[in-house]
Amino acid sequence: MLKMNNIKKVFRTEVVETHALRDFSLNVDEGEFVAVTGPSGSGKTTFLNIAGLLETFTGGEYFLDGVDVKGLNDNQRSKLRNEKIGFIFQSFNLIPDLNLFDNVDVPLRYRAMNAKERKERIENALETVGLANRMKHIPSQLSGGQQQRVAIARALAGSPRFLLADEPTGNLDSEMAESVMSLLEDINQKGTTIIMVTHDPKLALRTPRSIAVKDGLVSEVVRKEAVSEANENVAAFA
Ligand code: ATP
Repeated sequence: MLKMNNIKKVFRTEVVETHALRDFSLNVDEGEFVAVTGPSGSGKTTFLNIAGLLETFTGGEYFLDGVDVKGLNDNQRSKLRNEKIGFIFQSFNLIPDLNLFDNVDVPLRYRAMNAKERKERIENALETVGLANRMKHIPSQLSGGQQQRVAIARALAGSPRFLLADEPTGNLDSEMAESVMSLLEDINQKGTTIIMVTHDPKLALRTPRSIAVKDGLVSEVVRKEAVSEANENVAAFA
């Protein structure tokens, strides 16, 4: 479970102070799929980076599976991140010279794991995203949607409890976006908790819960059941 209470994040330079998050509070339960929406600059990526232990915070409390993140040093934070978190980015972030097998292997190199287990994990992850027959290809030989699938395989190979996705469909056309979204839904059904930042309202509506971020705060929470009920009520009065 991810539990944030009144998280604050201030970016300071010599001339300017930016309050990227102000009293940001959110709980995400095991197995949830939560979409995060909101205008540009509202703090979505800052939230995701703090949730994924890539960024520290200025104030408030953050517990990840019961661990008090505030009390961790850099090494402990990296270890917790490697154990629990997988990331997917808008721009895929694959290494262009490495084939798919070696790209998926990158985060596993930091794990205490023998070569046989690594190979099995990589093959299983590529199988899950439907690219097991392309292991020797390099990223430029794939479509954008396929490249994002490799990035998802790379995130899954470490068996993360939490998959954090920052605009995973932002660089894809609608058909490819649909296939990546369906894949994320399958992964979530199998038990991985997913938090996805998106500008696409249609995708946000597909998740059971979506939160809107505004000026560094959670400004609105929409649950799918509530949306369906509201639609039913509208229909009943129509
Ligand atoms: P977008 O939808 O455009 O990606 P966002 O909602 O993800 O935006 P953030 O990237 O979280 O917004 O940025 C929130 C605020 O923090 C913005 O005002 C941004 O300029 C500022 N900010 C983010 N990162 C830094 C940084 N490293 N240094 C200084 N300011 C930063």
